[in-house]
Amino acid sequence: MDLKQAIRAYALKNALQFGKASEGAVISKVLGLHPEEKANIAKLRSLITAEIQTISTLAAEQQKSELEKLAPELLEKKKEEKRVLPELPNAVQGKVVTRIPPEPSKYAHVGHALSFLINALYAEKYQGKCILKFEDTNPEKCTKEYVDAMLEDVTGYLGIRPDKVVLVSDELPRMYQEAEKLIKDGKAYVCLCERQSMQDLRHRGKQCAHRRHGIKRNLQLWEEMLAGKHAVGSAVLRLAGEMAAENQVMRDPVLFRISDAEHFKHAQFRVWPLYDFENAVSDCILGVTHILRSNEFGTMRTELQSLLKQLLGFPDQSVTQYGRFNITGALTKGREIREAIERGEFIGWDDPRLVTLKALKRRGILPETFRELVQEVGMTQNETNIDFSVLAAINRRLLDKRANRYFFIAQPEKVHITAAPGRRVELRLHPEDERRGHRVLIAKQDFLLEKKDVAFEKGKLYRLMDCLNFTKEHDHLAFHSEDYELYRKDGERIMHWLPADAAVDITVVMPDAVIKGKGEPLLAKVKPGDIVQFERFGFVRCDSPGEFWFSHR
Ligand SMILES: [Zn+2]
Repeated sequence: MDLKQAIRAYALKNALQFGKASEGAVISKVLGLHPEEKANIAKLRSLITAEIQTISTLAAEQQKSELEKLAPELLEKKKEEKRVLPELPNAVQGKVVTRIPPEPSKYAHVGHALSFLINALYAEKYQGKCILKFEDTNPEKCTKEYVDAMLEDVTGYLGIRPDKVVLVSDELPRMYQEAEKLIKDGKAYVCLCERQSMQDLRHRGKQCAHRRHGIKRNLQLWEEMLAGKHAVGSAVLRLAGEMAAENQVMRDPVLFRISDAEHFKHAQFRVWPLYDFENAVSDCILGVTHILRSNEFGTMRTELQSLLKQLLGFPDQSVTQYGRFNITGALTKGREIREAIERGEFIGWDDPRLVTLKALKRRGILPETFRELVQEVGMTQNETNIDFSVLAAINRRLLDKRANRYFFIAQPEKVHITAAPGRRVELRLHPEDERRGHRVLIAKQDFLLEKKDVAFEKGKLYRLMDCLNFTKEHDHLAFHSEDYELYRKDGERIMHWLPADAAVDITVVMPDAVIKGKGEPLLAKVKPGDIVQFERFGFVRCDSPGEFWFSHR
């Protein structure tokens, strides 16, 4: 393939796979075929951006037939391409322990779901254990509400069964002991510097006076910190690191700080570990063997965490990094979402415009969708852009076989068809699965049609799906016939419909609107939690009787 063809082919392939092509994925594929283009990366990028834009206007079917013409080998491979998770280093069957480490300071979103699942799936793969570890050592931000919500997301929604659920805050006394060990080894000291002057020293790579305190004095100050004798911000425990280190993280980082914020479970503690100490040491205490994390974590922190483990005599875990997920098209920062909720712009953390797990669940995204996405993108080194359309593409494929079909009319308009004989119309709940049973509509002469369908030309033949044919006469609509095959014409407009006297009120919550329409009678019996398809409209999840949340087309 020449360059132009390669760009188009891979953009098509990626779009088909994920609903929307990701620039990063296409670039890396194209460079694989045309490594000489590395020299023109900016130009290549803009060609790819333009191509992605062009093909995004095509329907999936068109994309597929284009790719079939251009590079059929890329299409055929797709089925068997279901990736297995790559092996982890030093993994022994039955001995692998992974962990899911959320900070309970917000509601989890799709990015969290993927990282949760990667850890759970690896534990499954090696028949090992997976620990759900709440990193709740930030008392200002962490709440019980978020712990409960995440627990429900992980176990109730995503269906992960952690072998153990722990709060890191429960391990605080043990962490104090580890800190004391460092002090006794001369590897940590209590620093009483003001924030700004320490910042200057670290910037210049100079030690502060407190670093020269002896072990005895440090132990005494540490005891005072724990006993509440120092004010917030006036004392911290620092690692005796390397003030001249090129990696700034190593310049005597803070390990513990004082906070007056009341922890939701442990109100008695006021000295709290910072992230690197907490994260590294809790993994060790819990016996984690394999850490899987996104490569945005970077190597600077890894150096610090490895040193802490080494100083404390813990074996280091095997760390595997994967490409980060960029969540696009929706707010994901907890603080921004919270503020928008407070301003009344969102109805809550489950607002249908958000990609929090609460919102996705309510909109009918199946838990299997996240699992499939992990299988497809989970452990590559490439960055993956994920927006709602990526989830929708997988979800649609899964739902197509499961969801029952119903007629729904968003903007009903009543029409009368003169001389329609009246009949009982039986329709399958699922077009390909007779066994699911039927829905019954009793057609008389008054029908509800979609407003945009009600524009008829005189003398032309129209069809109500599975019901009857009619024509437009000069001042009315007239029954013509019932048979479909006999009178069918190419390009004929087939309309869905409702019996005017039996239609029920249906509300559909869309991301940007609430639609009050009409549906067929049986919809009143759909149970909350069920996901169905409204024909020619899209998939929806029943939220409460008569109210549905829009999933996607
Ligand atoms: Zn100091």
